[in-house]
Amino acid sequence: MRPARALIDLDALRHNFQIARQRHGGRILAVVKANAYGHGAVACARALSGDADGYAVAFLDEAHALRESGIDGPILLLEGVFDAAELLEAAHYGFWPVVHHPAQIEMIVKTDLPAPIRVWLKVNSGMNRAGFLPCDTHRAWRQLMASGKVEECGLMTHFARADEPGCDATAEQIRTFDKATRGLPGARNLANSAAILAWPDARRDWARPGIMLYGADPMPGENNDLIPVMTLESRVIAVHNLAAGEPLGYGARFITEHPTRVGLVAMGYADGYPRSAPNGVPVAVDNKPATLIGRVSMDMLTIDLTDLPEAGVGSVVELWGKQVSVNRIAQAAGTIAYELLCNVKRVSFVWNNGS
Ligand SMILES: *Cc1c(COP(=O)(O)O)cnc(C)c1O
Repeated sequence: MRPARALIDLDALRHNFQIARQRHGGRILAVVKANAYGHGAVACARALSGDADGYAVAFLDEAHALRESGIDGPILLLEGVFDAAELLEAAHYGFWPVVHHPAQIEMIVKTDLPAPIRVWLKVNSGMNRAGFLPCDTHRAWRQLMASGKVEECGLMTHFARADEPGCDATAEQIRTFDKATRGLPGARNLANSAAILAWPDARRDWARPGIMLYGADPMPGENNDLIPVMTLESRVIAVHNLAAGEPLGYGARFITEHPTRVGLVAMGYADGYPRSAPNGVPVAVDNKPATLIGRVSMDMLTIDLTDLPEAGVGSVVELWGKQVSVNRIAQAAGTIAYELLCNVKRVSFVWNNGS
């Protein structure tokens, strides 16, 4: 069998959840959208079922996938519903839609629902992506309550720059949110991972951590005691000795400067390892540091084994995980850990409890 694997450490997931819980103090919706950032939504939701107060996904199908696998507890739909049929389903299954746009209020007003629903009204406090403007918040709230179909309306917002502790945009967003919602009853739900870690003022009744649960710090380089949950690994499947001055791989992006022992690894961009990773990004070979050389291809990549004479065919290569930080690879590849993690595919997934 091809040795490319994603090992998912569910004990690490639970550990990270407890950090979110301790830092925030309130109730926690574990964000498991996008297949739990590539870690397997059902396995992760199940692993957190004794701890999380509920889950958050992007949309209805992701919520169904959890329910059908026996996950109970609240499930927040971060994008809300897209049409009346979805609204009916959300009401039927007791999902909690976010309401971020007037058309969604109209759907609620016009649709006969089997039961009253709980919704979260989203305020645009400055990110300017989704949500009601501060000046429209009270009216939106009144329309929802006047519909007679909403049994509870929570209030939420989302931060654009919570991962920049030195930037006052988040404090400004919190002030804007508080002002826009002053006088309205209902639970508050503000913090993503970065806000849980860096913005105590954002800690309210509920929080919505995602990335920190998976052990990637939203502020790379900080030490928040998070443990990486995913180890992306494979093995060396061939070794070649190249003389100095030889090109390696597509585009001859790497030319050997001296005689070089090259290890071929069964992992490529079709598995989610970024093609944009430059020469020199770290890997760990049998727990020792080595580097990527040459362009990443679809199914394979190449590493420099010159200084690791004991490594050879069969050596285990960690692409990211507990030794090689996914944040480090993301930075080198010009992206963020979120994108790398949720792009992992085609490899075999192994979920373990670390025991
Ligand atoms: C994805 C998402 C989150 C989780 O964000 P992290 O940075 O992964 O903690 C929280 N809230 C909303 C609205 C989201 O879309």
